[in-house]
Amino acid sequence: MKPKAFDYMRANSVDEAVAGLAKTGEGARILAGGQSMVPILNFRLADPELLIDISRIKELDYIKIDGNAVQIGAATRQAKVMAWPELADRIPLLAKALPHVGHFQTRSRGTICGSLAHADPSSEIPLCLAMLDGEVILKSASGERRLAAADFQTGMLSTAKRDDEMLVAARFPIAEAGTGYAFDEMAQRRGDFAIVAVAATVSASKIRLGVGGVADKPTIVEWGNIAGDELDDALNAFAWELGGYDDVHATARYRRELVRRLGRRVIEEART
Ligand SMILES: Cc1cc2nc3c(=O)[nH]c(=O)nc-3n(C[C@H](O)[C@H](O)[C@H](O)COP(=O)(O)OP(=O)(O)OC[C@H]3O[C@@H](n4cnc5c(N)ncnc54)[C@H](O)[C@@H]3O)c2cc1C
Repeated sequence: MKPKAFDYMRANSVDEAVAGLAKTGEGARILAGGQSMVPILNFRLADPELLIDISRIKELDYIKIDGNAVQIGAATRQAKVMAWPELADRIPLLAKALPHVGHFQTRSRGTICGSLAHADPSSEIPLCLAMLDGEVILKSASGERRLAAADFQTGMLSTAKRDDEMLVAARFPIAEAGTGYAFDEMAQRRGDFAIVAVAATVSASKIRLGVGGVADKPTIVEWGNIAGDELDDALNAFAWELGGYDDVHATARYRRELVRRLGRRVIEEART
């Protein structure tokens, strides 16, 4: 299918982009890498009046260290972040997750912020931002605000972003010494969306486990540094709490089993 007709605006600056959003209101949509937006248009799941292309805004194409976080601009592609030499040291969790995000081809167009804005419950990047307690920076013609990842993604494909706002950056806290990081997922084929994705951080006193693909947004749980049967019991209780759902890809029961098994695996990996 082909999309319905829409107007296209190539923004050269953030000011131009937010002015377009302010003028057109809910009829306007941002186009970043187009890796989700173009299929959405082709399937006619959205019929925007105006597409505002931010992919060539130079001021949004950056990776910088700012205080205790790595800040990534909204035009920065996933491939650029993956190729950043400091990634494994600064944000090891994201370094482990990014190879699971789609394919070489989709990562070379898709952006970090586009994935966050799209808010698919199975997506690896929103899970990483939530796990690390990161934040997003939103901008509109009337100002800028920051939101914690937990407050930004409100459910399946939905966020707290207003129609007149765009994401201008995401902030991933820099790795802490003494904390281990691990990521894994089960997908039908490499590059497919995860059936279940899991991320763990483990320090001397705390285990943090995040799960994507089971609830309508990434879900995080924290325990003391438990092990053995106590950890198995906690994982089992967490799997039941998440519930899961049956669909064409997997049953709820299979999803719960993945939470237990992959959860255990990433916690052990992050511990070492
Ligand atoms: C074959 C294939 C496999 C894939 N596999 C995976 C996978 O395994 N895991 C995964 O996570 N993703 C996967 N994806 C999706 C991919 O990661 C997308 O790149 C990502 O979801 C969206 O990023 P984008 O820059 O392409 O955004 P776009 O497609 O341009 O936009 C996506 C949505 O976000 C909005 N948006 C984008 N940027 C902004 C912004 N700065 N401010 C406000 N709103 C914005 C758009 O309006 C749109 O609603 C896959 C895609 C394809 C085609």
